Amino acid sequence: MYKGTNASSGIGIGTAVIVEEAELVITREMVADAEAEVERFKGALQRTMDETEALAADLAQRVGEKEAEIMNGHLMLLMDPMLTGEVEGVIRSEGVCGEHAIGQVFDMYAGVFASMDDELMQQRATDMRDLKTRLQRVLLGVASTDIASLPAGSILVARDLTPSMTAGINPANVAGIVTELGGKTSHSAILARALEIPAVVAVEGFLSQVSGGDQVVLDGDAGVVYVNPDETVAAEYQAKREAFLKEKKELEQYIGKPTVTKDGVSVELVANIGKPEDVERVLAYDGEGVGLFRTEFLFMDRDSMPTEQEQFEAYKTVAEKLEGKPVIIRTLDIGGDKEIPYMGLKKDENPFLGYRAIRLCLDRKDDIYRPQLRALLRASAYGNIKIMIPMVTCLDELRAAKALIGDIKKELDAENIPYNREIQVGIMVETAAASLMADLFAKEADFFSIGTNDLTQYTLSVDRGNEKISYLYSTFHPAVLRSIRHIIACGREAGIMVGMCGEAASDPMMIPLLLAFGLNEFSMSASALLRSRKMITNYSIQELQAVADKALSFSTTGEVEAYMKEFLG
Ligand code: PEP
Ligand code: MG
Repeated sequence: MYKGTNASSGIGIGTAVIVEEAELVITREMVADAEAEVERFKGALQRTMDETEALAADLAQRVGEKEAEIMNGHLMLLMDPMLTGEVEGVIRSEGVCGEHAIGQVFDMYAGVFASMDDELMQQRATDMRDLKTRLQRVLLGVASTDIASLPAGSILVARDLTPSMTAGINPANVAGIVTELGGKTSHSAILARALEIPAVVAVEGFLSQVSGGDQVVLDGDAGVVYVNPDETVAAEYQAKREAFLKEKKELEQYIGKPTVTKDGVSVELVANIGKPEDVERVLAYDGEGVGLFRTEFLFMDRDSMPTEQEQFEAYKTVAEKLEGKPVIIRTLDIGGDKEIPYMGLKKDENPFLGYRAIRLCLDRKDDIYRPQLRALLRASAYGNIKIMIPMVTCLDELRAAKALIGDIKKELDAENIPYNREIQVGIMVETAAASLMADLFAKEADFFSIGTNDLTQYTLSVDRGNEKISYLYSTFHPAVLRSIRHIIACGREAGIMVGMCGEAASDPMMIPLLLAFGLNEFSMSASALLRSRKMITNYSIQELQAVADKALSFSTTGEVEAYMKEFLG
């Protein structure tokens, strides 16, 4: 078994096809007529641009506009006069052939990007190498690997799939993707997810372990790959794959159905997103809105802060696409495990207890918080946006955020800029302090969303990312269960909506308890929506009260978990 990074969900079973872009042999040929060679280069450039444009149009139609942007990015590079001018300059000054000049210039840029310690820059290096090879192929008249016409059941194995290769993939034929390089946010991973092809990336040294024709099994959720697995493993994954596909198909019947319990209680079933383009999947899986937009992702994978205008456009896009359905947008939650290099933050000794989220935002109102809140208020004119404050531990923080929002509203009034005057401002309840004071917070917050990922780590003093102590990290610990029940009760008592956007909201063992506690809104990854709707519609809240009472009567995590497993059968 080989371990890598889980990049796209699902089980892939099939035959390895090694996609190796055979190294083109480029020699440093001298040319007699440099101007004629420049013209030859320009011809190849134009053909490559035409091809790229066609790929972008095909992607836009088959997959989505956002995915097509990757190819449009390539097009922009090809149209960059600085870059192509440098190639022409090398041809003219050194009198060398176009193939060599392309290699020299594109390799130089790829090298610079590759040496930078940043995933986005690494991606640019891949883009540069991809374009280099494509331009050289056109000049040499060499065809590239035809990924579009692979046999059905192919598992693509490559050192790194270039975006143009991934763009040509036909999901009907490709059962999975394994690469040695790349990360969760590499373009190939993004495209694999958009095409719903299971993928595992960053499997170190994988190419030396596999040959074309080998049987490969990959688990895109667990991030593991097997080569020529024995019968037991093969059968296990075959069964997993069938169950995955069968469930996916069966769940389609829940699209368009309301999320109502057997005894007639409606709850909201909404999704967590990180980028505007994630909305496509929310709509595809019939999400009733967005319960958590983690805005920090807009700030990642780039070299500078997104401007107020860029943020406004992102928030507006989401609000408009959801056509009046609720969209809870969380203000920036960085620090802790999420770093943003260009912000120049010092490493905290104790990051999860440190300079994070609302603490940081209130300290950097001018360059961070104000622009974000202004963007949010401006976007609120275009849909049903609500603002959510993360990691609150005291009322002063909520009050300070609300005061700032009040100031910005006055500014917008003075500038005649429209916004929703009644915009709701709620909090993430994810610290022990917020939970213990939930009754007080409920008087000043318009809604609660329970962040169990953090609430669990802060309640149990267990770092959520530390493997060594992960056995202690459980939302079924009696202390966490009591905390959740208490928060929901306080919110309901005050008449405000209480949702949950931590991972526990889609945990099948937790859903019955949350229903019994009276949770109003469940927010989760889009792929979990339909399964959760199925569960919720099969329960009667009345019947679940006894289950919740029993679960809360135990003294240890193990007992609670065992009971809930038994209850689910
Ligand atoms: C949480 O803490 O439960 C949560 C939803 O936020 P994040 O995982 O982004 O900290
Ligand atoms: Mg959190």
